[in-house]
Amino acid sequence: MAIYSVAAPEEGYAGGANNTESQGGVMKIGIVGLGLIGGSLAIDLRSQGHTILGMSRRAETCEQAIARQIVHEASPDPKLVASADLIFLCTPLAALQDSVQQLVPHLATTAILTDVGSVKQPIVQQLAPLWPNFVGGHPMAGTAESGLDAALSGLFVDRPYVLTPTESTPAHALATVAEVVRSLRCRLYQCAPAEHDRAVAWISHLPVMVSASLIAACLSEPEAAVLELAQHLASSGFRDTSRVGGGNPELGVMMARYNQAALLNTLHAYRNQLDGLIQQIEQANWAALDQALMRTQAERPKFVEPQ
Ligand code: NAP
Repeated sequence: MAIYSVAAPEEGYAGGANNTESQGGVMKIGIVGLGLIGGSLAIDLRSQGHTILGMSRRAETCEQAIARQIVHEASPDPKLVASADLIFLCTPLAALQDSVQQLVPHLATTAILTDVGSVKQPIVQQLAPLWPNFVGGHPMAGTAESGLDAALSGLFVDRPYVLTPTESTPAHALATVAEVVRSLRCRLYQCAPAEHDRAVAWISHLPVMVSASLIAACLSEPEAAVLELAQHLASSGFRDTSRVGGGNPELGVMMARYNQAALLNTLHAYRNQLDGLIQQIEQANWAALDQALMRTQAERPKFVEPQ
């Protein structure tokens, strides 16, 4: 399986908003969908000297993006952004195909498109046939907020950014996207779309479902006074473990809808783990439980502090 880290962040980086020049020269960059991810990309890429053209569904968002100097120009009309050399597609997953179909009649043949969708296999399958110079991508960064107001500088610094080329992805398009992405000072990775989806099912989509189940399970406490006490006593541990389950429901549904098979696979594996724990506790097999917890204690750093 070809999964590899493409670039290490250079030393001396001063943060997204302070970086003054891209390594590969100034480009006209289009951003479609001026929300959390699109707005944050626009802020950092503009700070490097690129010309940023925005497109968003609502005229009001376009006006705000210009007024706040997040983009140079913006319009709900696809013609403006279609004149860019490189276009980041940052609309919700369900709107990506429509966004590309609107752009295609206006694009120069040399234009490169890349998306930021959180699921890759179905999106790459939808978009690659619509435009040959297309590169799938996913910045693994975000906050609990959404919309243009949530956009911030330096969101991608030190975070993974995965590109998912296929055999038909033109090498020059991949190189251009990789260079611009690398300039955000993220950790750049490359892998096949299906492998991306299997990996993010484990570390992103499964945790949302597990965390949501945790909150729902607590709510099944039959005695109201005990539940209320639990709610008062909940502290940092519960805050950490419930965070992603208490996020935007729309995002959780999108993950399940677009990554159904991989997510189900991880959920079944998780249920097996729970069954094993239940058995150990029912049988008072404290040695086995101790071993299981020692293993997870030793393995966790590989996920949260990868080498
Ligand atoms: P978001 O904050 O809701 O931004 C999306 C923006 O797109 C909206 O603010 C909306 O702006 C605009 N929009 C919606 N439909 C559109 C359409 N048909 N045409 C043009 N613009 C449209 O969402 P986000 O969190 O940035 O997510 C965007 C993409 O990034 C998704 O594909 C998601 O999978 C991916 N992603 C998200 C995260 C995360 O943690 N949030 C992380 C990595 C990748 P107006 O309606 O105001 O114009």
